Amino acid sequence: MENQLSNFIQKFFENLGAKVNFANNVLEISGVLESFEKFYGKASPYRFVFQSSNFIDGTELVDKNSYIVKAISSYLENSGQTTLVKIDFKDEKPKDFLKNVKFANAELKDLSKIKKHNFFFRFTFHTSLQYLNEKEKIINNIFVHEGKVTNGDLSDYPVVEGNKSEVTIPDMKEPYFLAKEELKKLVDPEIQKIAIELEKKLEKENERINSHFSHATNEHQEKLDRSKNKLVGLMHENDSEKIERQEKLVNSIREKMSLESSEGDKTRELTIEKQRHALNVNNKLFNTTLIYYPLFTYNATIKNEFTKRIFEVSYDPLTEDLKEIICETCGLPTKEIHLCSTGHISCKNCHYYCEACNKEYCEKCVKTVCEHCNKSICFECAVRCFGCGKVMCKDHTRKDPLTGRIYCNDCLKTCGRCNNLKDPLRFKESKKTGTMVCEECFRSEMQKSVLDGVFEED
Ligand SMILES: [Zn+2]
Ligand SMILES: [Zn+2]
Ligand SMILES: [Zn+2]
Ligand SMILES: [Zn+2]
Ligand SMILES: [Zn+2]
Ligand SMILES: [Zn+2]
Repeated sequence: MENQLSNFIQKFFENLGAKVNFANNVLEISGVLESFEKFYGKASPYRFVFQSSNFIDGTELVDKNSYIVKAISSYLENSGQTTLVKIDFKDEKPKDFLKNVKFANAELKDLSKIKKHNFFFRFTFHTSLQYLNEKEKIINNIFVHEGKVTNGDLSDYPVVEGNKSEVTIPDMKEPYFLAKEELKKLVDPEIQKIAIELEKKLEKENERINSHFSHATNEHQEKLDRSKNKLVGLMHENDSEKIERQEKLVNSIREKMSLESSEGDKTRELTIEKQRHALNVNNKLFNTTLIYYPLFTYNATIKNEFTKRIFEVSYDPLTEDLKEIICETCGLPTKEIHLCSTGHISCKNCHYYCEACNKEYCEKCVKTVCEHCNKSICFECAVRCFGCGKVMCKDHTRKDPLTGRIYCNDCLKTCGRCNNLKDPLRFKESKKTGTMVCEECFRSEMQKSVLDGVFEED
């Protein structure tokens, strides 16, 4: 019992974040939250012993009726606060955690720090089980990290008091729900165990009550029978006074029987026992600790001769995980980064070359196939012929210098006069020969005839 009590007190103060030390049968507690000290009415340190033989000067002997136990109990009843705590991980050199990442065709140029935090939650539940004359208290700490219940122990980390202005407090509904589910799993076996014990005890009590009532009924019956027989005997003696007395006795036994053997009494006693053997379970959320810690997050700039790209890298010092870098084509994580010439990040399997210009691209960016030579080409290399509408490499097309229109070699027309390949839509009929000539040849013909006219007039 002393052991259970000292464990309870020790755990309570540990959860409050106090310094707890148990040595030479003395439980010494210091660094207690001011809110509890005020509540208890006494400043720490406290020095508790649990057996009178261990009592020395300056200690306090504690049993289950002590004021400290009552103070803790009512403090727990009135609690339910949220504590903000920070794990003060020291910053790591970002290059260290990027050492396993390979940049295939680009260089890491810059890393600039971004402030980010990650969270987890600790829910402290107090479960009290009350039955018969027992009161049992169970304390459970449940940790929730990234949507999952995890095992945790804050004592392994450099914990300091949190600062509200440093973080945005996340929503706690979902983690609380998860923790409550977990609590059920944790306390259910104990509840089941006690419930079974209580049922057995109650059965025994019921047996006792039933046998008591049937025994009492038999006893009274025997007494009644005896008194009745005696009354029959007295009838022959003709002593009216004695008969009257005996009659009274018989009646009083009858009355007593009808009173005591009434089913109502028995039912009442059975009900009382049933109530006495009920198990009262009370779960209380005692404390929510919101724990945050820095995520080492950086904007990484990578660059090559064609393009540059900034993306976020982050390292979780708690799980020691580098946030995965995701290929923007296939969506899978990659440790080898290829920078597409338009700035996409892709993995080894998703990066391609343009077969026309040889620049590196991701798969998404070389979707075009030249209708002339069947090469996969980038958007920069692909052009559409104004004449036939086909898409092909620049190599198989020509831009008309006059109109700026692009035609494939098949769609251009040879001018009979200058022998050049020209925009087929701009041919005109020559006034001199009546044949179709290119626009340039037509213009120079017109200029010449104007000049000829000028000289004729002179
Ligand atoms: Zn990929
Ligand atoms: Zn290209
Ligand atoms: Zn791309
Ligand atoms: Zn081509
Ligand atoms: Zn064409
Ligand atoms: Zn021409």
